[in-house]
Amino acid sequence: MQQFNPYEMAVQQFERAADKLGLSEDMREILRKPKRELVVNFPLRLDSGRIKTLTGYRVQHNVNRGPAKGGIRYGPDVTLDEVKALAMWMTWKCAVVGIPYGGAKGGVICDPRNMTAGELERMTRRFTTEISIIIGPHSDIPAPDINTNSQVMAWMMDTYSMHEGFSVPAVVTGKPLSIGGSEGRNDATATGVLFVTRRAARRIGMPLRGARVSIQGFGNAGSVAARLFHSEGCKIVAFSDTSGGLYNEEGLDPALVQRHKLEHGTVATYPHGQSISSTDVLEVPCDILIPAATEGQITEHNAEKIQARILAEAANGPTTPEADAILFNKGCLVIPDILANAGGVTVSYFEWVQDLQSLFWDDADITHRLEVIMNKAFDAVANKAEEYHCDLRLGANMLAISRVAEATLVRGIYP
Ligand code: NAD
Repeated sequence: MQQFNPYEMAVQQFERAADKLGLSEDMREILRKPKRELVVNFPLRLDSGRIKTLTGYRVQHNVNRGPAKGGIRYGPDVTLDEVKALAMWMTWKCAVVGIPYGGAKGGVICDPRNMTAGELERMTRRFTTEISIIIGPHSDIPAPDINTNSQVMAWMMDTYSMHEGFSVPAVVTGKPLSIGGSEGRNDATATGVLFVTRRAARRIGMPLRGARVSIQGFGNAGSVAARLFHSEGCKIVAFSDTSGGLYNEEGLDPALVQRHKLEHGTVATYPHGQSISSTDVLEVPCDILIPAATEGQITEHNAEKIQARILAEAANGPTTPEADAILFNKGCLVIPDILANAGGVTVSYFEWVQDLQSLFWDDADITHRLEVIMNKAFDAVANKAEEYHCDLRLGANMLAISRVAEATLVRGIYP
């Protein structure tokens, strides 16, 4: 089987939308490639005293609409092509929700599960220093992603601030509240997923109360989605993480599953259900499927077996273009990543605005502003898809790419 390449997939999605928009070859030439790709190799002193050289990336795809914005992920499988794809999706995501950012992403190839807290901190601080030549509160603002969290963001903010000689809270988002983080940031991605799923469910006449939900991935995005959909009256019938999954048609209590994960390090051994694999979770009987793990999970090999009526992409890039076509023909409504999970970057934007003005908003204010933005973006995408008789992904990409193209045109080509 051909190796899955996220960047090729991102470019394929781009070309499809560019074709439909009739975008000129000149504009495609500009938007197809990332603006900057920084690769850093740097030494890490392990607790054993040995030195290990690690490789990290920071890619800025496009900054015509504002500073670059995007998460940092840690993991053994991180690749430059993955980071490039994620940076491009960030450009479209910021444009689709209309926030004034371009797209970026970063990552370090490492095995965080086998690193001590001290090693993680030293790695984060050195990586931040290495990429400090392109990040900054007005140029490129990182955030958490897979295997990074508010503590990692605190180390990044502190390291950058040490070099400047004063505190620069706006250099990263997803920080703890005590150093300029925002109310609502932790739940933001999943809250956004809930808002757009509610909108989508209303459109197809499906009540959320009682709807069966299956979730792949039980990290920041997946575990919070489980809690929020559960409190909305949905039945969480399946979930998974890298170790495996669980299915229970009667429904599971996400709070108890979360407690089990904290005690045992995985959700897969939670005793109240039938053990399934981490990919079976995509195929169980359900009404709403929420991939919240990683890219390339839904392909031409399993798309036909998906039973959900709504697929809400909390993860970035979980569905391949071949799977998209199958799902569209089956009548499964796919809410694409650049729309579905945009709540995270939207509240990151709120955090950055609050840091820059040193004036903070309360939780209700954040949630209200987020809901207005997500609903408006969903309606704009759904209308575009209706107008062009296409799926929501194509609608979202068309909307986003036309906004970025317009910004590029009006600014002109320098020099
Ligand atoms: P996380 O590290 O908190 O959690 C990832 C979860 O996915 C873990 O439970 C892990 O065990 C599981 N996982 C990883 N690979 C898997 C696989 N192959 N099968 C099953 N489970 C697997 O990461 P996160 O921040 O929740 O991010 C998850 C996804 O959501 C990513 O695609 C990320 O880019 C996207 N996302 C996150 C945010 C955010 O604010 N955190 C915002 C937008 C998009």
